[in-house]
Amino acid sequence: MKGVNRERTIAELIKRDGYRCRLCHLEFSELTPPEIDHRIPKSKGGDDDLENLQLVHSVCNRKKGTGEFRERKLPGKSALLKFIKKTSREQFEQIMEDKLQSKKLN
Ligand SMILES: [Zn+2]
Repeated sequence: MKGVNRERTIAELIKRDGYRCRLCHLEFSELTPPEIDHRIPKSKGGDDDLENLQLVHSVCNRKKGTGEFRERKLPGKSALLKFIKKTSREQFEQIMEDKLQSKKLN
């Protein structure tokens, strides 16, 4: 899946699920862009239908692959801490600031 097709698929998935990782439920950002994940892996007979696709962080996707991720758990402290560890303090502050700004606008 590449090019226009991939962009289009991502746009469809955002429309359906929102701009959020389906695994950790945190929003995507420029630092943590969305990645297309197959709910049922192609190796297990999954296909490229939208129903079988979801958007996730690449880091969450990798954890899911290794069985490290517990699916459907809402973001707890540990998910947030892991996220912070992977993000520099400045970047994190910027993200939080952006969040505050968007809340003010709403
Ligand atoms: Zn995630």
